[in-house]
Amino acid sequence: MASSLQTSHSRRATTVSTPDTYEAVVVGAGPAGITAVGNLLDARIDRILWVDDEFDGGRVNKYYREVPSNTKVKLFVDFATAVSPFRKIVSNVPSRDRWEEPSASDGVPVDGKDDKLLEMRQLEQETGCFLSHPADMCVMLTQGLKKTPGVVTQKGRVSEAVLDEQSSLWSIKVATESNTPQDITTAQTKRILLCTGASPTDPPLAYEPENLKHLHLDTALSPTKLASTLAPLGPTTIAVIGASHSAVLVLRNLSNLALSTKSDLHIKWFTRHPLRYAEYEDGFIARDNTGLKGEAAVWAKENLEPETLPSSPISKVLTKIDYEKGHEEEVYKAHLPGSDFVVQAIGYNRDPLPTLKIVTSNGKTKEITPYFDHDKGVFNYVRESDCGTIGDLARLPGVYGAGIAFPQRVVDKKYGHEEFNVGFFKFMKAAKQWVEEWKKVPSTGSS
Ligand SMILES: Cc1cc2nc3c(=O)[nH]c(=O)nc-3n(C[C@H](O)[C@H](O)[C@H](O)COP(=O)(O)OP(=O)(O)OC[C@H]3O[C@@H](n4cnc5c(N)ncnc54)[C@H](O)[C@@H]3O)c2cc1C
Repeated sequence: MASSLQTSHSRRATTVSTPDTYEAVVVGAGPAGITAVGNLLDARIDRILWVDDEFDGGRVNKYYREVPSNTKVKLFVDFATAVSPFRKIVSNVPSRDRWEEPSASDGVPVDGKDDKLLEMRQLEQETGCFLSHPADMCVMLTQGLKKTPGVVTQKGRVSEAVLDEQSSLWSIKVATESNTPQDITTAQTKRILLCTGASPTDPPLAYEPENLKHLHLDTALSPTKLASTLAPLGPTTIAVIGASHSAVLVLRNLSNLALSTKSDLHIKWFTRHPLRYAEYEDGFIARDNTGLKGEAAVWAKENLEPETLPSSPISKVLTKIDYEKGHEEEVYKAHLPGSDFVVQAIGYNRDPLPTLKIVTSNGKTKEITPYFDHDKGVFNYVRESDCGTIGDLARLPGVYGAGIAFPQRVVDKKYGHEEFNVGFFKFMKAAKQWVEEWKKVPSTGSS
């Protein structure tokens, strides 16, 4: 099969009127898209159309390079050596078969030369690092995957996917900026992997005083952007809402500024619950996805807890406002006036998906809402019966999800609550389980 494959450089020999058919279309090239392409190739599903508007590592590279990681360096190394196509890219060893069987020296070139993970391997493995390191690693893997036979890339956004119910074939549209004849703007496939990511949520507040401006969480997570935004301003008060990992990182960035170059900065911290920490148990981590970890956890313990805040230098620049869920409006009315900015660190929402439609057996085209199954990595939709009545929830054929937008559900081993597994290595773990499902779709047989 590999001999008949085209790379990005040799594609589009056919006329534009017949869309090419791919074994899979992967939407998004953040860590999840990279994971999906690596696992598809590993499973020998290898005529892949990969679409993203930048192919530059996703949001982690664009916005979070200065953020300290909440995972250990060794997990990023594990991620980059988890599948054979990645190991080949990392080590620059030409034969794919060379890496079929992972060994103890996973991905480390035998002669030690050309190891593209060298910098990452030289970092302390048991602690965190700045996300600039895994971001660079994503760019390196992306560049390698783009050159891998069987992967065709197109810059742009998948805007629509229409399922022909009878053939189970999806027709997709790609919106491109360049609009050249070489662009792939339509394609057909039996598999779509949605790795479309998520962005900070910033809804209107229950009460907002006049002149309060919203400062985006992405800006507040970057000490450099934060400093350049605030430096030209006079005395400034910033309200921070939340008690998550992101909230603590923002409080730390702002406190560092207030205690160094911007002494006229004051922070109001609005929190509805005590800080929660990940707990390292024997063989597992409780609150692995929801608890504070890494540098954020250490800083929070030293500066934000009821017993440490009063004696911390942070108390000079930060006022804590505790309240109960449901009392937002009264609390904001009492404490927000006088604030210049608000930063909400209250979670991330899925980025918009391509429009999904279905052509039913009677020829009607209907838009559908996909519902993700966090256990199986697949989607369901509400099927209409032939007479137009709402039917049962049915499996949406050939569509799969991965990444921060579509994480795997796990149960916390200590507390028993449900969590969503978000992180590079967790995306990899999920993909390795879900790839068996991705394989089940019958081959399109027409590449
Ligand atoms: C502040 C913060 C800190 C984190 N720290 C860590 C950490 O320490 N360790 C760790 O393992 N994880 C960490 N994560 C979690 C996770 O690894 C990242 O959020 C990761 O960037 C998510 O990857 P993704 O590929 O799912 O999404 P994204 O990075 O958002 O990538 C999605 C991509 O899809 C593209 N896209 C979207 N729609 C379309 C479309 N229609 N057509 C084409 N392309 C499209 C986007 O342009 C983007 O490039 C952190 C997350 C945050 C927010």
